[in-house]
Amino acid sequence: MKRVVLLGPPGVGKGTQAGFISEKYNMLHISTGDIFRANIKEGTPLGKTAKEYMEKGLLVPDELVCDLVEDRLTWDDCKDGYLLDGFPRTVFQAEHFDAWLKSRGEELSVVLDIQADNEALIFRATGRRVCPACGKPYHIAVMPPAKEGICDYCGAKLIQRADDAEETVRKRLQVYQDQTSPLIEYYTGTGKIAEVDGMKTPEEVFEQICALLGE
Ligand code: AMP
Repeated sequence: MKRVVLLGPPGVGKGTQAGFISEKYNMLHISTGDIFRANIKEGTPLGKTAKEYMEKGLLVPDELVCDLVEDRLTWDDCKDGYLLDGFPRTVFQAEHFDAWLKSRGEELSVVLDIQADNEALIFRATGRRVCPACGKPYHIAVMPPAKEGICDYCGAKLIQRADDAEETVRKRLQVYQDQTSPLIEYYTGTGKIAEVDGMKTPEEVFEQICALLGE
């Protein structure tokens, strides 16, 4: 049973790796970004609040995210472990989450820190396309679908996320640098961190992750 956190800047491939990991290890993939996007699509109050921040490339307020995730993790389907993609994203969230885990007598198995350089991240995020129906991510140059603009799995028309426009990507990278990258030091302090070289191909990145997670 594993509780895994995927840490890394926007566009590093967390979503892609999360898909591979959840399939191979049969782990539940929880993406806070996906939860917010689903709420925006459904027009819920949570979606309305989140949209204001997301559109600008800013983070949704900490308390709101912590309550959302910690509530979600009490569902039955999380009993056998989970893979967190996009949470925690600030030291506040990490501390809050650690206290919550501790209160339940639980702890994280590992924090996978995936890194790549900024130019590669901008190239990846701006070329990213995603299936609005099943969530499968693509890249127009690196991981294109078999038929241009169409999801290989469900045939839906691929879209570009609004926050993958270049200016917003640069803003998100800055926010990552300022607010999320301090988590590397935080988790190094707890001895939970494992580094992954995100400059490699998706398959090679996954090989590194498998070596860390074991069979
Ligand atoms: P992602 O899909 O992980 O890139 O997240 C997209 C956007 O959702 C981020 O740019 C934030 O605005 C918001 N978001 C996702 N996860 C969090 C989080 N843990 N804390 C604050 N905001 C978040």
